Amino acid sequence: FTSILDRILQHADQHPESVAFDLPGGETRSYRDFIGTVRRIAARLVADGVAAGDRVAMQVGKSPEAIALYLATQQIGAVFLPLNTAYTGAEVDYFLNDAAPTVLVCAPERADDYRSSTAGLVVETLGVDGDGSLVADALPELADVRAVAPDDPAAILYTSGTTGRSKGAVLTHGNLSSNCDALRELWRYSPTDRLIHALPIFHVHGLFVAANLSLTTGARMHFLPRFDVDAVLDLLPDSTVLMGVPTFYTRLLADDRFDRDRTAGMRLFVSGSAPLLASDHRAFSERTGQAILERYGMTETGMNTSNPYDGPRKPGTVGFPLPGVELRIADSATGETVPDGDTGIIEVRGPNVFAGYWQMPEKTASEFRPDGFFITGDVARLDDDGYVCIVGREKDMVISGGLNVYPIEIEELLDAHPTVLETAVIGVPHPDLGEAVVAVVVPAAGQTPDEAKLLDSLRDRLARFKQPRAVRTVDALPRNVMGKVQKAQLRAQFAELFR
Ligand code: ATP
Ligand code: MG
Repeated sequence: FTSILDRILQHADQHPESVAFDLPGGETRSYRDFIGTVRRIAARLVADGVAAGDRVAMQVGKSPEAIALYLATQQIGAVFLPLNTAYTGAEVDYFLNDAAPTVLVCAPERADDYRSSTAGLVVETLGVDGDGSLVADALPELADVRAVAPDDPAAILYTSGTTGRSKGAVLTHGNLSSNCDALRELWRYSPTDRLIHALPIFHVHGLFVAANLSLTTGARMHFLPRFDVDAVLDLLPDSTVLMGVPTFYTRLLADDRFDRDRTAGMRLFVSGSAPLLASDHRAFSERTGQAILERYGMTETGMNTSNPYDGPRKPGTVGFPLPGVELRIADSATGETVPDGDTGIIEVRGPNVFAGYWQMPEKTASEFRPDGFFITGDVARLDDDGYVCIVGREKDMVISGGLNVYPIEIEELLDAHPTVLETAVIGVPHPDLGEAVVAVVVPAAGQTPDEAKLLDSLRDRLARFKQPRAVRTVDALPRNVMGKVQKAQLRAQFAELFR
């Protein structure tokens, strides 16, 4: 077993001058510099009283120092706890109370708020330019690396809160390194790769897929503060890999400068964290001659499935289980595997699956089957070739008049209508049906979708019980930073439609 940090240290030892980070403006960071920063921050954390097993929370914008902070926690056997930068003080208080970190590292401008709100918490600061108290005193580098076992906790990542309150997923060193190793093989990651890193680093995608993969391989990354179409277009000719959420691709496709020439040197475009529209997948292939590789994961499990590197990457599918990951489609009520091709809940087992929810033993127990499979809550079926096709989340399923309605089926039909850009189908309370199907649509550019015409277009193509009882038009679907449609917000907004 080799931990993520050990792998990075091995590379830094052999190729100290190689570049780890390319920063906007042309500045670079070598592996040697970067490891020096890790070791100084590790010394700072120890001086702050952090011991093995203690939590270190971070709520800061992107910088190499923020990634160094993550690795410094690993070096001393502490547990890294990154928080969404969008969370307000009151929201952060919930996480601080829940996880009781020893140290919180936050943006300089927020330090005073946090110092006064939580007694006993050590508050350090880190600005996006690598400034702040965390790195201010040039402490001698701490060279010792605490030995860790695969089952030791490495991080607590909170889920995105799409379906309810965020839960803290405890991830072990074994979880992180096994998943990273599987992806490195599968996606042919090599030291010559140059990744465009435009994802946030408080989420599994930007931190454990993108950054871990690049750094453990000894590759380079263009480290952007956030996704910006112009910046990404500029970097494409100097890069080989982009990892993105679906909205990255929607926005690139909306720009004429994004074309075959500009992407000629790229070898891999990955999409995940939310469903990629099959139409975007196809439009991308037409534009660039390359196919987006869609994969599926979650905070609790890291990556579970991926489309193949060689072989067809099918639009609307998330591919096959990663090597070492067992996946089955099960009946939600009984836990029995469903017949091939039938729809059920994805359950997974493997070295990638987390240790449990932080301080929620009952919740943890209820999400695992007796044989150790984790119940993801995602609804899917296998196609004829064994590709996993996610049709939605169990919690987004609409039960109308006692019958199950899978939103994606209706969303795909409406998305294809010329007046519609995109659709979210939700269930809202209805006096007779229990829930009624409602379609929330975003108009295509310059179009005004007509409710009667849209409903008419569905008449011959959907069973009566699946047909929306109402269509509502909005300017944009509510999305979080990972591009996840916030259906709970839409359900609340339209809760009174039939009451
Ligand atoms: P919460 O668990 O708090 O409700 P969340 O599930 O959105 O929030 P994450 O762990 O960030 O939090 O997201 C994992 C979920 O994202 C998966 O369970 C799945 O529903 C969705 N997802 C990830 N990748 C894909 C994909 N390629 N296609 C469809 N859905 C995806
Ligand atoms: Mg979830």
